[in-house]
Amino acid sequence: MGPPVSPVGYDALVARLRRAGCVWAEDEARLLLTAGGGPETLAERVDRRVAGEPLEYLLGWAEFCGERIDVESGVFVPRARTALLVSAAVRVTGPAATVVELCCGSGAISRVLARRLTAPRLLAAVDVDPAAVACARRNLAAVGVPVFAGDLFDPLPAAWRGRLDLVVANAPYVPTAAMVLLPPEARRYESAAALDGGPDGLAVLRRLAAAAPDWLAPGGHLVVEVGRAQVEQFHAVLTEAGLVPSVVRDDVFDATAMMGRCPDDVAGRRYEN
Ligand code: GLN
Repeated sequence: MGPPVSPVGYDALVARLRRAGCVWAEDEARLLLTAGGGPETLAERVDRRVAGEPLEYLLGWAEFCGERIDVESGVFVPRARTALLVSAAVRVTGPAATVVELCCGSGAISRVLARRLTAPRLLAAVDVDPAAVACARRNLAAVGVPVFAGDLFDPLPAAWRGRLDLVVANAPYVPTAAMVLLPPEARRYESAAALDGGPDGLAVLRRLAAAAPDWLAPGGHLVVEVGRAQVEQFHAVLTEAGLVPSVVRDDVFDATAMMGRCPDDVAGRRYEN
């Protein structure tokens, strides 16, 4: 047995977190002090936080759009800016919609959509990373959304082709050369695959846009997040894919969401109802 660990006081903890560069030191101190576990657990969490580990991994959860989302080491931590993607998706989606989330990570977006959409008819989430799939299954069990493992649309039943009203994805979009500019918390602790979007950041989004028209119902939408500098280029990608592009922007959160609407009359396709 080591020496007893003395309980950490609030003021001392705030001071230590602030010295370590935590901007929201008071909030973090409160969350760490009320996170449960004994003084040794607290001391260990504080040491890991001071060493740079994301607070959300230490707590085991992140707040997203008012929901508490389970996260675990390596799985992408839902960002406040992604609330814009959620609200954009809700705005373009009618009742009883058929909805799929790709690149779902923790499943945060589906969890919020399941509560905000009016009577969604079918929801499913997909991720290629087994750790994300396990995490999303935990977050989505309560709202009854199944989670599939695989690349983009690959694991979905073929019968869903041409029937999706909404496809949402916070796919990786950071250009590979910009990965070194990410905050150390993201760079060192999150899965690079959840962030790195290839040479221009659009490698996954381009594949997604190309495949989407095959899966969307007429009038259905693809809704994704991109970086501010990628709008023009992804606009062209959506147009090229046969989707009608639009963009929404939130300067406070530095968030950009882009929509691609599937035309009502997609030539050469037949639909049964
Ligand atoms: N760094 C970006 C963010 O924090 C990257 C997100 C992404 O690649 N999907 O929002």
